[in-house]
Formats: sequence, structure tokens, C-alpha cells
Amino acid sequence: MADYKAPLRDMRFVLNEVFEVSKLWAELPALAEVVDADTASAILEEAGKVTAGSIAPLNRSGDEEGCSWDNGAVKTPAGFPEAYQTYAEGGWVGVGGSPEFGGMGMPKVIGAQVEEMVNSANLSFGLYPMLTAGACLSILNHASEELKAQYLPNMYAGVWAGSMCLTEPHAGTDLGIIRTKAEPQADGSYKISGTKIFITGGEHDLTENIIHLVLAKLPDAPAGPKGISLFIVPKVMVNADGSLGENNALGCGSIEHKMGIKASATCVMNFDGAIGYLVGEVNKGLNAMFTMMNYERLGVGIQGLALGERSYQSAIEYARERIQSRAPTGPVAKDKAADPIIVHPDVRRMLLTMKALNEGGRAFSSYVAMQLDTAKYSEDKATAKRADELVALLTPVAKAFLTDMALETTVHGQQIFGGHGFIREWGQEQLVRDCRITQIYEGTNGIQSLDLMGRKIVGSGGSFYKHLADEIKVFVASADANLDEFTKPLAAAVQNLDELTAWVLDRAKGNPNEIGAASVEYLHVFGYTAYAYMWALMARAALGKEGQDEFYASKLGTARFYFARLLPRIHSLSASVKAGSESLYLLDAAQF
Ligand SMILES: Cc1cc2nc3c(=O)[nH]c(=O)nc-3n(C[C@H](O)[C@H](O)[C@H](O)COP(=O)(O)OP(=O)(O)OC[C@H]3O[C@@H](n4cnc5c(N)ncnc54)[C@H](O)[C@@H]3O)c2cc1C
Repeated sequence: MADYKAPLRDMRFVLNEVFEVSKLWAELPALAEVVDADTASAILEEAGKVTAGSIAPLNRSGDEEGCSWDNGAVKTPAGFPEAYQTYAEGGWVGVGGSPEFGGMGMPKVIGAQVEEMVNSANLSFGLYPMLTAGACLSILNHASEELKAQYLPNMYAGVWAGSMCLTEPHAGTDLGIIRTKAEPQADGSYKISGTKIFITGGEHDLTENIIHLVLAKLPDAPAGPKGISLFIVPKVMVNADGSLGENNALGCGSIEHKMGIKASATCVMNFDGAIGYLVGEVNKGLNAMFTMMNYERLGVGIQGLALGERSYQSAIEYARERIQSRAPTGPVAKDKAADPIIVHPDVRRMLLTMKALNEGGRAFSSYVAMQLDTAKYSEDKATAKRADELVALLTPVAKAFLTDMALETTVHGQQIFGGHGFIREWGQEQLVRDCRITQIYEGTNGIQSLDLMGRKIVGSGGSFYKHLADEIKVFVASADANLDEFTKPLAAAVQNLDELTAWVLDRAKGNPNEIGAASVEYLHVFGYTAYAYMWALMARAALGKEGQDEFYASKLGTARFYFARLLPRIHSLSASVKAGSESLYLLDAAQF
């Protein structure tokens, strides 16, 4: 496997040339104070060094060794505790955290690129700080001032970690039926009892304390999602002076043996009357969780992108070196027994598909991150509201499309290695195995598609979608004629999506099954169209500069490949959407 190198050139291109992000930062006072293009560049460069130098080398050994459980204690693979300490001491856990509590206060668009690097280096490792940052976000937005002061500084500093405890054996997608109980105590705290499963980083040896965010129900809570509350439940109790006290009444019953991310501890957590503290209001726990989920879901999409990038870096190196057969048009490497496989059309198809989907995904995730920053920091209410609605619309697309594309890209990366792609020592098979979970956790991709179509498209009567469609139409209308080769197919793709959206909105009125029947393919049409917008923006930023630097020539070539070979996928997907739900219900359950 090639050594990981952070794609800093492309990251800077996206930030500075495609989105001119410093202009956005200058308009948002809270960000103008902490970041400019130079600071961002220095941060990304440093993140590139730490992820490539300290974390990537543990990826394969972590996969081989995995985590182990012994009588409630969980050991992470060799090197993980030391690497975590290095990462935490660099301030990376709190990169997007509030400066009031010791975080670095960086915009999400920078945090997103740091996340890409750490996850490319080692997804299992990246999950520990990611869960901590997600827990911090819920605490920051919903907990009392006292709880924030008590927990956030040590969490941002990476001295304590966080976990998210939602799932139970009988309740994954449908959290409304969880059974974990929270009994109010006279002192205002709660006693939490129940079993949570699949808890990432529920127990480990990286930090002295783990702060669990737990969903539970009060005894008199209404049934369903409206009866769920959120609690901070520390592994080790925290005294008033901030020192650590006794162990809380909770423990890790076992860890799972998994297909991938083997160095990430996936824990069964038992809460036996553990002391917890309410975050936000009673019965509003899911709302508090959603704050975190928009960030986490984008983060999971970025995990997919990260794996695709790592796979591409190895695949391109291999395709240049591996010699096999002659080019169809005649020998290229005449001094060798055969040509490098990069000459073959099918290998080029796979490499370019990987490159186009990775770079499209990097631009798209940065675009969504910029909307998150605008929603959070804009002082203009209408601007913040529009950005917030775009975030709501695009988050399920970012989570599901980036990870679905990541499975395609990592499989291509494996395929380019031929039989060696199937052999562990080359590393490509690990990326495929690690990738699969990104389509499942944090809400399966099927559920993301339902969220897009049901809540965001139908639920807003198409108004959230209109923000994006209008923005693309303004871009197309104002673009120079020399961009026609990109803007014309983009305009046609948006028109197709407009029609498809109207079609689904109409059909959903008559038959509730239509939404679920259309949703996955619809999300893919949406994703390819959104990437077409990204590729047109990237082409605009590169056009005219191709003589200066190969980077721009490569960008334009990849843009042309995207429009010629990948965007047309929307036609077959749209036809599937329009086939409706009828054919899904021709068999009764016994006929399967
Ligand atoms: C490695 C790993 C790490 C995880 N980390 C965490 C964590 O840190 N914290 C945490 O709380 N959880 C975590 N999870 C749990 C994860 O989020 C859930 O597994 C996931 O949300 C799916 O829930 P489920 O497994 O119960 O599947 P189910 O909900 O039983 O779903 C089964 C299938 O049915 C489909 N389905 C369900 N309902 C519908 C519907 N209404 N319409 C259409 N299709 C539907 C699903 O899409 C899926 O394909 C983790 C899981 C794993 C494997």
C-alpha cells in the first residue's frame, strides 16, 4: 500500500479557488477573528503531517490486532494510546470546538478536511475523536452552563473521550421504542438503567474518562420519539472541583467481532442505575441529538471519501508500476515485457471514476460544511435560515451518496490490483471492509434516502430543494460561454431533477409507498446532479490555467470524464424512480 499523503493541493484548490472561502469567513465576524487563508493552510499542512506520520502507520497493524476485551476492560491495538495522545496534544480533538471552553474554534470546512485526513490515515482511529467531537457538540448546544464548564474543556483537550449511546438490541432505526430508563433523583440527577449495543468507543484505554451521551426514557414519558431524553453519563464521576471520583455504575459487557474497523471498539454497554445528568429538556432528547447528527452524518460521508482517497492513492501507484499485456494501440513501454496497466481503457475507467467521485465528494462535503458554518455564524437571519435548510436537505445526501460512492471507489481500487487486491498485505481489501459500515451506521443509507425524500423534499413542499436548484440556475445563467460544455449538461440534469422531484411530490399524495420506493434511486440522481454542479464549479476555477500547471489540466480532464461517463447514470436511475412502487408489491411475503 502506498504511504498516505494528504491531498493538500486539492484541498487548497477547493477552499481558495473553487469556493473562495476566505470571503465567507470575512463576512462572519466569529470566524473572521480566528481564521484566514494562511491560518487554514498552516492547519491543514500540520494535520497532513500528523495523520500521515503518526496515525496512518497504525492502520494495518490495528486491523490485524483489533481490540480486545478482558473482564470489562478494552485494550486498543499497540500504538493507539500513544498516537491518540499525540493527536490530542496537537489540539485536533477540539479543532472545531468552542474557544470559550478550550476548542480551536475552526470552521467546519476546515474540520471536515482534517476529518478526511485522519480517516484516510486510519478510520478506526478517527472514530474516537469524531465521537468525542460529536458528543461535545450536543453538550455545547443543549447542556446547562455548569455541565458545559465541567465536561467540555477536558473533552476538547482529548483528556476525556465521548460516546453516543442510542442503539439497543431491539431498537436501531426506530429509536422511539428504546427501553433504557431514567429515574429522577432528589438531587436533580437521574439513575440510568438499560443496555445499549454497538457503542463505538464505549470503553477503551485511550483516555482516563469516557463521557457517554445516553438516550433514555423517564417513567412517565410519552410513547415513541417524543418521550426520549438525553443524558450525560460519565464512566468515572467528576467531583465539583473537576477531579475524578468513583466509577459510575456502568460497564462494557463485551465487544463485537466485525467485518471491518477492527481497531474501533464497538461495545455492549450496561447501565445499572448509573448517575446521569439531563442535557436540554425532558423528552426533547432526539432534538438535542439532531444537532450532533448533522455534523456526524456529514462526517460519516467524509469517512467514505477518505477511504476512496486512500484507495486511489495506492491504485494509481500500482497502475503505473504493474506491467501486464500491451496497450490496444501498440506497445508503450517498448523496453519492457509488457505495458503498465494504466494504458488499458478499463483500468483508466476505474481510476478516473475513483478520481472524479473523490474530488467531487471533496468539493461537495466542503460545500455542505460551508453551509453549516453559514447557518451557525451568519448574523443575517434570512441567510442563516437558507443555509440551515440547505444543510437539512444536503446532509442525508452527503452521508449516503458519499458512502455509496466510496464502496464503488474502494472496490475499483481493489479491482485494479487484480488478485493482489484480495490479499491482505496490499491493504486494498481492508478499505473495502472498512467502507461497508459507513453505509450502515449513523442511520442506514436507506433511511437517509427516506429522510431526504420524506422529510426534506415532501416535508418542505419542495422549498428546501428550490434553494439549491435556484442557485445552480443562477450559476448556469451567469457562466461564460466557454463553460458551455459543463453548464449545458448541468442545466439539463437540474431540469431532470426538477421534473423528478415534482413527479415524486405528486405521486406521494396518492400512495404512501411511493416515497420509499423512489427514495434510494432519487438520492442517487440528486447526488450525481449535485456533483455535476461541483464539477462545473471546479472546471470554472481551472479553465484557462491548464497551461500553467498539470493540476489544472488534470482537473479539466476529470471534469470532462465526469460529464461524459458518470453524469449519464441519472437517466437509468430516473427511469427506475418513475417505475413507481407497483413492481415492489407483486409478491406477498410468502412468495419471496
Ligand atoms: C460498527 C458499528 C458501530 C456503531 N456505532 C454506534 C454508536 O456509536 N452509537 C449507537 O447508538 N449506535 C451505533 N451503531 C448502530 C447503528 O447506528 C445501527 O446499527 C443502525 O442505525 C441500524 O440499526 P439496526 O442495526 O438496528 O438495523 P434495523 O433498524 O433493524 O434495520 C434493518 C434494515 O431494515 C431497514 N429499515 C428499518 N426501518 C426501515 C424503514 N422505516 N423503511 C425502510 N427500511 C427500513 C434498514 O435500513 C436496514 O436495512 C453502530 C453499529 C455498528 C455495526
